[in-house]
Amino acid sequence: MSNPSTAGFGALPLNPATLANLQRLGYLAMTPIQAASLPPALLGKDIIAQAKTGSGKTAAFALTLLANLNARRFAVQSLVLCPTRELADQVTTEIRRLARAEDNIKVVTLCGGVPLRGQLATLEHGAHIVVGTPGRVMDHLARESLKLDALNTLVLDEADRMLDMGFFDDIVTVAKQCPKERQTLLFSATYPEGIAKLAAQFMRDPVTVKVDAQHAGGQIEQRWYEVKDGDRVAAVSLLLNHFRPASTLAFCNTKAQCRKLADALTSQGFSALALYGELEQRERDQVLVRFANRSCSVLVATDVAARGLDIANLAAVINVDVTPDPEVHIHRIGRTGRAGETGQVLNLVSMDEMGSVGKIELLQGRESEWHKLAELTPTGKGPLVPPMATLHIQGGRKEKIRPGDVLGALTADLGYTREQIGKIDVNEFSTYVAVDRAIGGEAVKRLNEGRIKGKSVKVRLLDE
Ligand code: ADP
Ligand code: MG
Repeated sequence: MSNPSTAGFGALPLNPATLANLQRLGYLAMTPIQAASLPPALLGKDIIAQAKTGSGKTAAFALTLLANLNARRFAVQSLVLCPTRELADQVTTEIRRLARAEDNIKVVTLCGGVPLRGQLATLEHGAHIVVGTPGRVMDHLARESLKLDALNTLVLDEADRMLDMGFFDDIVTVAKQCPKERQTLLFSATYPEGIAKLAAQFMRDPVTVKVDAQHAGGQIEQRWYEVKDGDRVAAVSLLLNHFRPASTLAFCNTKAQCRKLADALTSQGFSALALYGELEQRERDQVLVRFANRSCSVLVATDVAARGLDIANLAAVINVDVTPDPEVHIHRIGRTGRAGETGQVLNLVSMDEMGSVGKIELLQGRESEWHKLAELTPTGKGPLVPPMATLHIQGGRKEKIRPGDVLGALTADLGYTREQIGKIDVNEFSTYVAVDRAIGGEAVKRLNEGRIKGKSVKVRLLDE
């Protein structure tokens, strides 16, 4: 019998264009939560699915809502509720990627913190799929700018987190405004009590699928180092210089520690950024873009700030402090070693934290592998430098800039090769382009002198 975690999408009742698109996206095998939830979901069942962050939950509900969709019908047919704008943006991007197989599927994001007016205009143009936060979706329902009478699929993504944020009543209100004849899909990383209560309010005979918190897929190698409290910063730079991970997520328990560590690493010549609760949305967007596009080597974050973060191919996780909650440790380390890759987890532990290590060992059912910081030797390769640099272009979707326009300006107009250009993120008012670090400064100068879509643009290098 084949292992369900390696089953291909080909066994599912999906149309050939969708299957071909999945191949192009490199989605060759289903993840365990996809293998468990897609068969009943594609039969139209209500689903409660629980699996850890990074396990591919988005595609599980996106493929289902796309299968339920009739692109020729110009009405909102699916609604996805998410806890934050950032998660809503990530979900929108993933749905668009998965919807590429079909023409003209319109996905609209409705979140707070963005002027209503633009959203009203967008909705007037028609949408098939709406992704949004509960508060703003309720606003639009109250104004009747959003109508749900043609809805066939309701998705609650990160339901545990929406409950944490106090959205229980809002979710129930929105669900009540959806047609009774519909499919409801609930996805969550954990299963707090509130979930069953929520489901009981408006789900029909749901099938529950759960994939264990245990790590699936790739391999994780964990090492533990004893450290004195005052030596943590020095220990992090030793680890980075020794193992030279291409991208590292470093967790600290507090915001103050995050900032201190990021500053210290930066002053030692590392490319490091801090991510914590109080950043302005624009700053937060920039930090995430720079880390995800490989122009920053180390992201230092608190657990709360890193929640829901989706970054493929993290080479390493460093736990600068041990978390007192062993479940949090499992979530932290699940950021690496995904999809068959090997990930490295490096833990720094002070004497005071030994008790927390014991709890983690119990939960993981394995003993810790201890190493000494004295074993670490610099490789003599010089400072750890990220491969890319980020250019910031003033102007984004509002100016009708598309990734292809930027790529065209850099390759066709300026003669750079496709390989020298990395990820291109077009936001509402800004565009971020990763380019080979070696050409960063020159590319900025030449873009400033040239044009994108016939218009001159303002470009600068994002570097600290
Ligand atoms: P979750 O919502 O469970 O936290 P996501 O849906 O954000 O996880 O998926 C995590 C990452 O895995 C994304 O980068 C996504 O593109 C990728 N992914 C999802 N399904 C597959 C698959 N079947 N094969 C390869 N990559 C996948
Ligand atoms: Mg998710």
